[in-house]
Amino acid sequence: MSGDLRSEYRFFVNGEWVSTPELRPIVDPSTGQVVARVPDATAAHVNDAIASARQAQAAWGRKSPLERAVVMKRVAALIRRDVERLARIVSIEQGKPLKESRGEVGGSAGFFDYFAEFARRIQGEILPSDFPGEQIWIQRLPIGVVGAIIPWNYPSALVARKVAPSLIAGNTVVLKPHEETPLSALELAHLFEEAGVPKGVVNIVTGSGKVVGEAITVSPDIALITMTGSVPTGKTIMARAAVNLTPVSLELGGKAPFIVLEDADIDLAVRSAVTSRYMNCGQVCICNERTLVHESIYDVFVEKFIAASKALKVGLPLDEATDIGPKVSLAELEKVERKVEEAVTAGAKVALAGGRPQNAPTKGGFWFTPTVLTGVDTDSDIMRSEIFGPVVPIVPITSFDHALSIANDTRYGLSAYVFTNNMRTIMRAVNEVAFGEVYINRVGPEGVQGFHTGYGDSGPGGDDGIHGLETFLAKKTVYLNYSGGQTVPLMPY
Ligand code: NAD
Repeated sequence: MSGDLRSEYRFFVNGEWVSTPELRPIVDPSTGQVVARVPDATAAHVNDAIASARQAQAAWGRKSPLERAVVMKRVAALIRRDVERLARIVSIEQGKPLKESRGEVGGSAGFFDYFAEFARRIQGEILPSDFPGEQIWIQRLPIGVVGAIIPWNYPSALVARKVAPSLIAGNTVVLKPHEETPLSALELAHLFEEAGVPKGVVNIVTGSGKVVGEAITVSPDIALITMTGSVPTGKTIMARAAVNLTPVSLELGGKAPFIVLEDADIDLAVRSAVTSRYMNCGQVCICNERTLVHESIYDVFVEKFIAASKALKVGLPLDEATDIGPKVSLAELEKVERKVEEAVTAGAKVALAGGRPQNAPTKGGFWFTPTVLTGVDTDSDIMRSEIFGPVVPIVPITSFDHALSIANDTRYGLSAYVFTNNMRTIMRAVNEVAFGEVYINRVGPEGVQGFHTGYGDSGPGGDDGIHGLETFLAKKTVYLNYSGGQTVPLMPY
């Protein structure tokens, strides 16, 4: 299919490339054709990976952070060297347009560069003791082996988001990509090898959630599970991790409200709402999932939004002109199709009828074109559960308070958008919009120096920035008596 792909993939354990008789076909969502085969690991392979990561961690953790950063910068440079090839692989296995894939892969390099910068910044603290001749230290240390589990929507960047902070912290990693999009992670593993990441420090194990994911989740030798994915899987992982009291950091789904008030720059708001809904074919956890527009500008907004939606080019991911690629899989396409049907049954009006196109770019691809719904009941499922596709309900609101009551009435709490030029409303939004990430007058994506975190069903934990890094570090408190004598009162034996 493409010269960018390897003829045969293997997974990566303890610096070795491993295969099994069980090969899983990997499908290009733009054609429905198999483009590669990847071995399904067993629980025994996962346990080998965890054992090798444990063994490798001692030496990796003893290196100075600067030595680790040197290796990480080599990884970043290699990703940049190969950005075009890696971007094409993201597009082939996941379906996002090449221009978006380039941004994703560039972001992967950015994670390694950014976290390498912490080499001289992972600091401890010295606290005053209650006793003379003493110091109290709090040290930040590696935690051990990190188990990382990621979804299919950013198969390259999410590898970097989990591996880079692990490495600078002195941890080692066992990472499981999604079974439908493992190629980018395996390609990155080749670059880890080339960059000189020592054996066992990063292991990439491919296969199903049921086998590989569960084996990571239940292992007593995993010190942290960091998972990005759906709410049901996050709950399963958290429950299973409880058996060993393994800490979990979960980045789960979202249902972002996109609030546009009467004084907003309407063209900026429309362009932003369109980008935020349709990037990656709507398959982003921070996507605009519910557009809430002030009634005084509602009709104009809907008209402009529909015109902008129609202008987007649905096409082959590798075509430079493409704005929207296919859905990642037939199952995801059918899920979104079902959601539109249910919304219509519940009374929604289809203002832009998208769905499966008649003149699709290919026959076998999983195509779904922009769909706009109006007249939706704010209590209906389309307003409450994640759509994760190029479909958006647009709802009129009478005031900021009205918008707020709809926006905050959700179990999710990842990201929210507010478009207004009123400073008082902006400050109210900052204080009252109950989401972990609030974007005012701009779209995502989030910055690596921020803290990507959600509330409620969006999961406990968070990634990126200094707060994300904290998750990957253990703390140790040291009480040091240098007085030469006794400082703390002893029991009167
Ligand atoms: P998913 O939950 O189906 O899969 C995520 C990962 O979990 C996969 O690698 C899968 O194999 C694994 N898994 C499945 N069952 C498992 C089990 N029992 N034990 C251990 N691992 C298991 O999610 P998905 O469909 O790949 O991804 C889409 C979801 O991810 C959406 O809900 C989206 O919002 C969310 N997401 C969130 C963020 C964020 O940062 N909050 C980012 C991207 C995607």
